[in-house]
Amino acid sequence: MSAISRAIRACASRRNLSVQAPAAAAAGAGLAGRRAAAGRDGRDRRGGEEKKDGRRVQWVFLGCPGVGKGTYASRLSQLLDVPHIATGDLVRLALASPGPLADQLTEIVNNGKLVSDEIIINLLSKRLEEGEEKGELGFILDGFPRTIRQAEILEGVTDLDLVINLKLREEALLAKCIGRRTCSQCGGNFNVASIDIEGENGGPRMYMPPLLPPPECESKLISRADDTEEVVKERLRVYHDLSEPVEEFYRARGKLLEFNLPGGIPESWPKLLQALNIEDPDNKRSAAA
Ligand code: AMP
Repeated sequence: MSAISRAIRACASRRNLSVQAPAAAAAGAGLAGRRAAAGRDGRDRRGGEEKKDGRRVQWVFLGCPGVGKGTYASRLSQLLDVPHIATGDLVRLALASPGPLADQLTEIVNNGKLVSDEIIINLLSKRLEEGEEKGELGFILDGFPRTIRQAEILEGVTDLDLVINLKLREEALLAKCIGRRTCSQCGGNFNVASIDIEGENGGPRMYMPPLLPPPECESKLISRADDTEEVVKERLRVYHDLSEPVEEFYRARGKLLEFNLPGGIPESWPKLLQALNIEDPDNKRSAAA
């Protein structure tokens, strides 16, 4: 067994997490390999630059369901040339391959619960290892970690530069999840919700226009099975119970950047780039929804 897989196995078992042998090796190669590459040069919000040791950013996006983690993480990953790794996407991929794992996951996901730390670590480790084989440098994680245990395991094997905590008014979150649509053919993400909320305490009104599909996608739109009102409410409850403590975990380590989304993408994207001290080489593209 390599030193790396020993490290991840030790890390997981210290926390009573049983990682099976092949998965442990994957976990080690994927997660711990990044620790070796990480160095300890602390936060660097100039995301576009490579670190001294050649690696790129290692960032995490936190935030409630529907806040827009996927949207902003995906845009930043293109800008910074690092993979956007969403554990929700890994879970949906696993759901799409029929078998006992998919049956187990369907029950959990469709009820708005969290998948076990063991399953999610195995899925993520496998994805990181595949990326490493392809020569990927750095990452933007979206939807992981979601429990303190996951955060501790990640901390044991890699050194994050920055954790971005996206925040949006609670009233908008439910509407955004329910309005979410994906084109079953091209995979494009859209939102049919039109959100218009009065300002709080004399603050500005929040307007988020719908992000409508082009005519060729209109008849092919699908919704996620866990984006129903009842399930989204449960996912929000689970977030407050299990994932909100993760914000404090990173705040205490000085890694958390809080970002209150002021509205839709055209308004929020330039402000997020400014907060991250990143220049968008194509301002025109960035302003488009
Ligand atoms: P998302 O697309 O991030 O909303 O994730 C969809 C579902 O996948 C979640 O509701 C969970 O059931 C599961 N999931 C995604 N990431 C994690 C994680 N880090 N830990 C546990 N479950 C997760």
